[in-house]
Amino acid sequence: MFLALGTVNTISLTNFDDASVLKNAAVRVKELHRRLSVFRDDSDISAVNMAAGKKFVKVHPDTLLLLKEAKRFANLTEGAFDPTIRPLVKTWNVGNHKQDVPSSIEIKSALSLINDKDLLIDEKKSQIKLRQQHMAIDLGAIAKGYAADEVRRFLLENGVKNAVINLGGTVSVIGGPKIVGIQNPKEKTGIAMGHLQLENKTAVTSGSYEKFFQKGGIRYHHILDPKTGYPANSGLSSVTLIGENALTLDALSTAVFVMGAEEGCRIAKRLHLQAIFVTNNHQVLITEGLTDIFHLSQSEQPEAMI
Ligand code: AMP
Ligand code: MG
Repeated sequence: MFLALGTVNTISLTNFDDASVLKNAAVRVKELHRRLSVFRDDSDISAVNMAAGKKFVKVHPDTLLLLKEAKRFANLTEGAFDPTIRPLVKTWNVGNHKQDVPSSIEIKSALSLINDKDLLIDEKKSQIKLRQQHMAIDLGAIAKGYAADEVRRFLLENGVKNAVINLGGTVSVIGGPKIVGIQNPKEKTGIAMGHLQLENKTAVTSGSYEKFFQKGGIRYHHILDPKTGYPANSGLSSVTLIGENALTLDALSTAVFVMGAEEGCRIAKRLHLQAIFVTNNHQVLITEGLTDIFHLSQSEQPEAMI
């Protein structure tokens, strides 16, 4: 177990003795944290944010690739996922000390800075620029996905045949089947509302229970709608997507949480992903491909929780 990417991470290998592989997998995650975190002044992302409206900044290939993918997903989701959301995230500051609803003027001013088209990528020179001053990138919705893919690739290259990678709720299974618990949005952390059997697959959840504050009887959570400037209000408490590529699932679980179940189902179908939606009134909806591997039960002992 180790801390990185603002979360608790575990990588468990079955029948594998080389401890250096496990150690180096964790090193890789920490290295990505150093490059991608908005909370470190020396990260690539902070360097780009500090130079917003001024100049291009050279970044590591990891950062370049992730920003290219981020733009692709912003496009695919028509802006429901937007990597330039940082000014709005900062204004709301959910999960930090300020537990207050921002004024509509603050929200408007943050919204005026959000536009993935103003994230400029010069691929040849491996450099990035944000077009306007005060714009800022936040990769909180996809960094864990990319890191999980990287760990998975590294473990497979090193001969691992059986593993569970859990980067703060982004779970990737090598071999299996393994049982993964899906968090009940209405219960304490660790209480599942159902279980998934995963074999050589990845699952990612986005939920409004993860980070929030209450004010005047209303719950304000951390997944923001770039169109309204407010926490997404699409009728969902959580969405879990199941597929192969963790980066795709991570970007889309955040976006689908913003878009809602109907649009989410359409995207899932188009991209051959499976989905579990938990609605605000606690209905559980699943896509067809999950009938044999998802069970609504609380009694099973999961190997990972998301
Ligand atoms: P996740 O838990 O993967 O759904 O990501 C949520 C995190 O991504 C938040 O804590 C914010 O840092 C950031 N975020 C919130 N809303 C969005 C959005 N609509 N698009 C991109 N990133 C977002
Ligand atoms: Mg995400």
